[in-house]
Amino acid sequence: MTQWEQKYYDKRGQLLARNLESRHFQACYCANRQDALEKALAWIPEGSSVGWGGALSAQQIGLMDAVKAGPYRAIDRDMAKDPQERERLVRQTLLADVFITGANALSMDGQMVNIDRMGNRLAAINYGPKTVLVIAGMNKAVDSLEAAVTRARTIAAPMNKQRFDGKTPCEITGVCGDCKSEECICNQILITRRCRPGGRIKFILVGENLGF
Ligand code: SF4
Repeated sequence: MTQWEQKYYDKRGQLLARNLESRHFQACYCANRQDALEKALAWIPEGSSVGWGGALSAQQIGLMDAVKAGPYRAIDRDMAKDPQERERLVRQTLLADVFITGANALSMDGQMVNIDRMGNRLAAINYGPKTVLVIAGMNKAVDSLEAAVTRARTIAAPMNKQRFDGKTPCEITGVCGDCKSEECICNQILITRRCRPGGRIKFILVGENLGF
């Protein structure tokens, strides 16, 4: 990243953090992933049960590895021995002390847009875990809510679909076809407009490109 791109992200990140706080989210901006990791760990109390979902950006800053190695009770569905245990861990995550996730898009006025295949990630954002920790690169921030929904539907979802088997228009062409196919991953779309209770959802904005 050039120094000018960094400067651009720094300015937008600080503005976005203020706008998120105006909606009662807790938010901070970190210029790089090292600072973001330090901040994230400072926001997770020792001994907490910690689960995650849809959290590639958090993975990229090293947060999952740090949680698994640290003084926390990690709920890692990828460690499940069979589908039944995986399902049990997914459900357990809904009552974790801390749920770590990402954002498919953020509007500069402080709203978050996420799309989900099964709905478990959106459920955890809505209610359940005592704290939701969102790690988001500044590549996710766009100027309006309309642009955020468009980003989530036409960039984040088609990129995300490349991780899953099953033919959909976006998997074949890279472009969303607004499908209704069996393998569609865009089954639920959530706009998180405000945080209640205040501070339950915490954002760490990172001045780097993370996730998709
Ligand atoms: S083609 Fe279907 S699965 Fe792909 S992004 Fe569009 S709605 Fe989602």
